Amino acid sequence: MRSRRFLLSTVLISALVAALTAQSANKGGMGSIQEGPLREWLTYLSSDQLQGRATYSEGLGLAAAYIAERLKEFGVKPGGDNGSYFQVVKVQGVRTTSRASVTVEVNGQTRTFKDGAGITFPRNMGVKQSVIAERVVFAGYGMSLASLKHDDYANLDAKGAAVVWLGNGPKLDGVEVRRLLGSRSRTAFDKGAVATISPVGTGFGGRGGRGGAPSAEAPAANATQPPAPAGERGQGQGAGRGQGQGSGRGAADDGDFTTVQRLDNKVPPAVTAQDEFFEFLFSASEFKYADLKERAASQQALAPVVLKNVKLTFNVDADYEVVRTRYTRNVVGIVEGSDPALKNTYVLYGAHYDHTGYREGAPRAGGDPEDRINNGADDDGSGTVGILSVARAFATGPKPKRSLLFVWHAGEETGLLGSRYNADYPVVPLANIVAVINIDMIGRNRDDDPKQANTVLVVGSDRISTELHNINEDANASMAKPLTLDYELNDPADTESIYTRSDHYSYASKGIPIVFFFTGIHPDYHRPSDTVDKILFDKVAHVSQLAYETGRRVANLDHAPVRDNKGPRAGRTVKGKIATTQR
Ligand SMILES: [Zn+2]
Repeated sequence: MRSRRFLLSTVLISALVAALTAQSANKGGMGSIQEGPLREWLTYLSSDQLQGRATYSEGLGLAAAYIAERLKEFGVKPGGDNGSYFQVVKVQGVRTTSRASVTVEVNGQTRTFKDGAGITFPRNMGVKQSVIAERVVFAGYGMSLASLKHDDYANLDAKGAAVVWLGNGPKLDGVEVRRLLGSRSRTAFDKGAVATISPVGTGFGGRGGRGGAPSAEAPAANATQPPAPAGERGQGQGAGRGQGQGSGRGAADDGDFTTVQRLDNKVPPAVTAQDEFFEFLFSASEFKYADLKERAASQQALAPVVLKNVKLTFNVDADYEVVRTRYTRNVVGIVEGSDPALKNTYVLYGAHYDHTGYREGAPRAGGDPEDRINNGADDDGSGTVGILSVARAFATGPKPKRSLLFVWHAGEETGLLGSRYNADYPVVPLANIVAVINIDMIGRNRDDDPKQANTVLVVGSDRISTELHNINEDANASMAKPLTLDYELNDPADTESIYTRSDHYSYASKGIPIVFFFTGIHPDYHRPSDTVDKILFDKVAHVSQLAYETGRRVANLDHAPVRDNKGPRAGRTVKGKIATTQR
């Protein structure tokens, strides 16, 4: 009796709560972003039924269908292929036949090094082109780490130059620079280099890169993969090989590299070279290569220098044969803006709805053999339902001037596949996307530290558009209870390299201003214990409200956020708004 009455009153209360929730949801807007629906959606999306949502799996398909059903329910328009909510992502295994070479002129003497003989081009080297560098600069260790008081570029102009570096990084007290080595090409290209040359076997890589592609030294022009972070992404260029259920493990040949991107992109050359090449390159220099190599190996100071009377010609030339094709899908929805002129421009909201699937082999030592599913409630179930709540808020509430484009990316965990695809084959013209707001993991406290309850990590907001950074700061300040915005992971010296590690990077590398929200790594990251019961739904709601408000403000601007490209400034020490003149 008692339990029955209890049950009855519980039912009544929940019906009342549901009615109230539905009422405020009907009005849409920020007020509709609430814990209740977030919990309901995530409970399904992170359930064992979806088997960890691995790319190419049945579980991912169920998740895609669920998201699309919700979009239809909210009145969000389909933004995918042929009037559907789905954008097919084509994942190709490609074999390369290279005819590339580098010609070196030193004091009038000329030698040509063919790809594979003294010099190695990435297997995905982009479209045929010739890149001439009249200036060649030696940038020491090739690292620009201002907050660690080490900057090889401090007195070096890399603009228009081919940049050369040696070694595995300088000795810096108490800092593990190893994980930053993979970003050296990106640093050089950001500083205006036209090509990079690094020694074979340096750089933090070797994982994933099959066929000799220096995957860890990927250029910024994004036709190659970004650095694969230690222990997390795992697969890199060999994406999907033998890890997705039902992907025909072992049956197909992936070729030399796996990509979702166009093969006719122009990619600045990022080559690796052997001693023979460097000896000739430095032959007219006052520094002997053997000495520099030795200094680099023992982590002594390396002075940057311009190599005089040296000219390099990179002949990029390769044929690509697609030897394997697989399909996965992004889920895409659009809420149209109210302004007749501005509504063909967009604010893109992104999250990834895939996760790492389940453990096929023996259970983890000491782990529960029956618990092998990585539920991915936080990663990135939280972002998935976060932008779902934002989509509903806009679809059922007031419309800003610009349109809102929502993309649930597939294949993030296997190499940012969905976002790279959409950045190369976009559902709307890239030129019409004024900003990207990406959310990946917003449901926990960093390291489970309760002091982080009101904190969100913000990455990338200042790098391309100072204005976007300041809009996000203002949006936060306008909220009833502002969050603490922490920029620590935006510091270029941060070894986690978060800026390159989620889908926003695919768009940022095309020059689109981005802001990334993240609440940090925790002990359940990429484990079966990343479950819905540990999610802090008030926090998911709070961060989603900020994402809503920032996007709403950008969508109502009469101009696109100014792209002043001043690079990262917010960091460990710099917080709050940034003057547009501030470098
Ligand atoms: Zn993630």
